[in-house]
Amino acid sequence: MVISTDARHRSLWLREAGTDDVLPALTGTIHCDVAIIGGGFVGLWTAIRLKTLEPQLDVVILESDVCGGGASGRNGGFVLSWWPKFSSLVALCGEAEALRLAVASEEAVSEIGEFCQAYAPQAEFRRAGWLWTATTEAQDKSWTDVVTRSNSARPGTYVQLPDDEVARLSGSVNHLAGVLEPRSATVHPGHLVRALRQRALDLGVRIHEGSRVRKISRKGPPRLETDRGVVRADRVVLATNAWAAGLRELHTRLFVISSDIVATAPIPDELDQIGWRTGPAVTDSQTLVCYYRTTDSGRVVFGKGGWAIGLGGWMPPSMERHRGRAAMVTRDLHRYYPSLRHVPITDDWAGPIDRTANSLPILDWLNAEKTIAVGVGWSGNGVGPSVVGSKILSSMVLGLDDEWGRAGLVSAKTKRFPPDPIRYVGGHVVREAIVRKERSEALGLPPSRIATALSNLAPSGLEDKS
Ligand SMILES: Cc1cc2nc3c(=O)[nH]c(=O)nc-3n(C[C@H](O)[C@H](O)[C@H](O)COP(=O)(O)OP(=O)(O)OC[C@H]3O[C@@H](n4cnc5c(N)ncnc54)[C@H](O)[C@@H]3O)c2cc1C
Repeated sequence: MVISTDARHRSLWLREAGTDDVLPALTGTIHCDVAIIGGGFVGLWTAIRLKTLEPQLDVVILESDVCGGGASGRNGGFVLSWWPKFSSLVALCGEAEALRLAVASEEAVSEIGEFCQAYAPQAEFRRAGWLWTATTEAQDKSWTDVVTRSNSARPGTYVQLPDDEVARLSGSVNHLAGVLEPRSATVHPGHLVRALRQRALDLGVRIHEGSRVRKISRKGPPRLETDRGVVRADRVVLATNAWAAGLRELHTRLFVISSDIVATAPIPDELDQIGWRTGPAVTDSQTLVCYYRTTDSGRVVFGKGGWAIGLGGWMPPSMERHRGRAAMVTRDLHRYYPSLRHVPITDDWAGPIDRTANSLPILDWLNAEKTIAVGVGWSGNGVGPSVVGSKILSSMVLGLDDEWGRAGLVSAKTKRFPPDPIRYVGGHVVREAIVRKERSEALGLPPSRIATALSNLAPSGLEDKS
């Protein structure tokens, strides 16, 4: 197996949080109780949970880059729950378990807030909610099914707002309507991931950076090979995000697409003027979703999902950064906030998203012997849910028969994608149709029927398809 990540272009977040103190790569052969592949939010939360449950456990993290070098140090910092996926959760695990998991994902937002208060006060945790908006007539009421279903399961999950309040909260009249999920938050993901790494080290987790796992033995006691070392472990957790798409067992369960982000220079006064400085995180309702938030220093961080497409485990270098796509994202920023056209863009970066068919993560076993647990497929909503995932993965590898080991997401049967190259080619056809459809809608024109039909083949995004 070769999974590759050569992310050297750093996001604004990692530039601010710093990544200079690289931990030594693995050399020689070592043994441990649990080896975790991947030092992102999933791997780090799981390591911390394992050491909290069983302090004597010997836990090792193998990270090919630096901890946070993957999606965890590059994301938009939206800390969302699973409420937008409530219908998919019900379909997968039934009403009661779906409710338990959705509430757990909401509580995860608070847990991240508590972690930040204790260990990462610099991580800018801000609970100002998530504003889900329409920026064209066609997007209006995209949320109706999700809101109706969520609010009947747990009243108050979403708050319907008058249209002028949506414009006021988002700082732009180009937001025509929307709903607020008030319990969501934003965070500085760079500071958070680096604080998690420090917390894991303080708890005694051994972390090897620059240690790409090149081979996983599935049969017998797990054995992981890196360029210069070997780990023999009783149990393994695979937390490699989109890079897991290169594994034969996961190939048709993951579809890798990019998400691209730009960040403006700090403009606190202008944000004060438009009233968005400490406001909520915002998304539109496009399939190629735009997501944007402000930072404590007064920057706008604006992202757009879904452009570049991965081929199996191979990702084009442009999955790290692409100037043309950054220009496209900037155009969307200016479309929604025309008053910010003159503001310099100081940073742009990209990263891969590990989409699944229902946008819920894969929490499963890689092998029949159930020694290698998998936690991938967060589908662009992993900052908050990785906390829930860490509880599930910890119980799986510790063999605990508790609410997490028995969680409805464990080994859930889900739809698969066609294999590559069919998926790769089909993905491009569908993406082009979505682009044509959303361009027509932005101009107030009806999209062609063929573009609409092809767009409907896209897997659900952040939220359930209505
Ligand atoms: C641009 C972008 C924007 C996003 N925005 C949001 C958002 O606003 N809110 C949200 O909830 N989610 C968002 N996401 C998704 C979110 O970042 C992830 O779901 C979340 O960080 C969980 O990450 P992870 O730990 O699974 O993966 P990662 O952070 O990618 O960690 C996996 C790690 O595995 C390492 N690795 C890979 N292969 C190997 C190997 N063979 N050996 C050793 N190590 C390996 C990688 O280097 C990487 O560090 C976004 C993602 C991107 C890319």
